[in-house]
Amino acid sequence: MNKATRKTIIAGNWKMNMTPSAAEAAVKETAALVAGKDGCETVLCVPFVDIHAAVAAAKGTNVKIGAQNVHFEAKGAFTGEIAADMLLECGVEYVIIGHSERRQYFGETDETVNKRTKAALAAGLKVILCLGEVLEERQAGITAEIVSMQTKLDLAGISADDMKNVIIAYEPVWAIGTGLTATPEQAEEVCAIIRGVLADLYGDTVAQATTIQYGGSMNDGNAAELLAKVNVDGGLIGGASLVPAKFAKIVDAAQA
Ligand code: PEP
Repeated sequence: MNKATRKTIIAGNWKMNMTPSAAEAAVKETAALVAGKDGCETVLCVPFVDIHAAVAAAKGTNVKIGAQNVHFEAKGAFTGEIAADMLLECGVEYVIIGHSERRQYFGETDETVNKRTKAALAAGLKVILCLGEVLEERQAGITAEIVSMQTKLDLAGISADDMKNVIIAYEPVWAIGTGLTATPEQAEEVCAIIRGVLADLYGDTVAQATTIQYGGSMNDGNAAELLAKVNVDGGLIGGASLVPAKFAKIVDAAQA
């Protein structure tokens, strides 16, 4: 099996950008630019307060809307958190979990990432599970060990059947928002390592069917080269997703 066995997914992560009115305009503009580009799935992961406007603007287009986090409990005294069924009822299909900014600034651990992933999957959301090494780990030559361990811990207790709704985003932390991009060879090497771990955990069929994205300063200038790699099945894109024309060019690059 090869790349043809899995879906290419180009997902934007808007982070903490865009008011609801700006979101509405950006989703409409993006949707117009990617209309008919069905060679990949196109997703925009927006701030919680933008979901309503974004879902309405994306209706009838081929843009799907995602959230940027979800809590692991179904409801209760968790001030400021959002539950999976709330997202679903708002029309959200995807949710990013374990983004390095959540891990770095908000105390997310592999344990909470795993709990959030289970809750999201149980509710019927598709999960974009982020993992990747920090610069010191890459320099120490332990990238393979780090991403393998994260993959195992973050997916602990998640069934082979549930893996149909899991997308892994390999995001080297040193490349996120820094303008530094992993070379296509570096991205390919680590995505292949992650696929190997998935094969150990779930067998080859699941491993070959799982979408593994690269994220880290992907843009309209470098996307084609990265996406050409056999184990890179899409991208998670921060900065460049805020500009519809740039994001649409990345979607174009994923049509091949
Ligand atoms: C991200 O937010 O996941 C990301 C990869 O950001 P950027 O593209 O800006 O590096």
